[in-house]
Amino acid sequence: MVDIDNTIADYTNGLRDYIRECGHGEDECPCPEPTAYDFTLTGGWPFSGDAKSFRWWHTRAVADGLYSREEPYEGAAEALNQLHDAGWNVIMATSRADDRRGESQRWLHRNGFQFDGYYNGDKTLLTPDVLIDDRPVTLEAMAAKGVTVLHPDHAYCTAAPGRMFRRWAAVPLILGGVR
Ligand SMILES: [Mg+2]
Repeated sequence: MVDIDNTIADYTNGLRDYIRECGHGEDECPCPEPTAYDFTLTGGWPFSGDAKSFRWWHTRAVADGLYSREEPYEGAAEALNQLHDAGWNVIMATSRADDRRGESQRWLHRNGFQFDGYYNGDKTLLTPDVLIDDRPVTLEAMAAKGVTVLHPDHAYCTAAPGRMFRRWAAVPLILGGVR
């Protein structure tokens, strides 16, 4: 099971680009790499320290096509397709509650991801063999019930349980030993 935002799709940079397009320059809003999963806890973003403002920015960015515009991380599709070809059932999973136009699945197809299932909801309700995700509380909950967890190396999830990977190309190698 594979998460989308900040796991295979660059949400942070997508949101940063959107903020730039809205006229907030680098001097005023450096938009640094978030140090916590809750982006409002990192200074230098227009919504820092303000959860309501974050929701406003997120909602506006999504309405303006953020989910279609996020860039896939380098090597993500190749790595997951390699696993799919090796017999893994690849389930794309997101807790996006606001993808009302079905952009996520079109984005996956457009960017060449081959997958066997798509799930939108609370991932902790499922028990996959493996979860690849960036959200620390989800990684902790899944690791606690015996799921093998992997996560990227964003500053906010380096301390999360499971194996960390810097490049997607490493993921099939890590999982080669799991099955
Ligand atoms: Mg995510």
